Amino acid sequence: MLKQINVTVWNEQDVNQAAYPEGIHTAIAKFLNDSGKFHIVRTATLSQPDHGLQKDVLDDTDVLIWWAHCYHHMVSDEIVARVQQRVLDGMGLIVLHSGHAAKVFSRLIGTRTDKLRWREIGERERVWTIEPNHPIAAGIPEYIDIPETELYGECFQIPPPDELIFISWYQGGDVFRSGCTFKRGFGKIFFFSPGHESFLIYDMPEIQRVIINAAEWACPISYPVPQTGHSPEPLEKI
Ligand code: ZN
Repeated sequence: MLKQINVTVWNEQDVNQAAYPEGIHTAIAKFLNDSGKFHIVRTATLSQPDHGLQKDVLDDTDVLIWWAHCYHHMVSDEIVARVQQRVLDGMGLIVLHSGHAAKVFSRLIGTRTDKLRWREIGERERVWTIEPNHPIAAGIPEYIDIPETELYGECFQIPPPDELIFISWYQGGDVFRSGCTFKRGFGKIFFFSPGHESFLIYDMPEIQRVIINAAEWACPISYPVPQTGHSPEPLEKI
């Protein structure tokens, strides 16, 4: 039987996010629910107690999706440490767009992930699929054209990703590693840059498909907790 996947979509705001009057987390949760692929889809926001990420919520979350922009500094270090620990233990993490500067992402990646080029003039973006046989790219065409976007450009200060699934080209001439995977501990992490709050990028079926695929990919499988520490009894007779 396939594992039932529980997803939590986190956002720093509750409502009134430019093009998303009910908040970006609500829009993402809706298309995840509509896909029929997930068992429970919760949302959590910054204003809730523990930012909505109480221990029991995280323990019951297979994949956490993180959207944030202006209030990274308001996320408590205690919650960041809690999320980091769950990822190291195997929870999947999908970091979207301006979440690149979130403490949970930089803590796990270990570099200054807030450093990149950006501008907001509504230029065109072409997201090239460069790993078409990867599960995150399933059903995605050779490229996705986004008519208006916020530019994120190199040099993005991340370490070389484990896998580079998408590279974006922009009308203004920049390029960006727009879809990257990382592994930290037992957790799988995917960063995907499209999705600014002023443009309805999360309404695009191809973008929704990437996020749905990523949530399925990042879900941990069932595995025995590995033994660590002092191990005085060898398996073989010495
Ligand atoms: Zn943005």
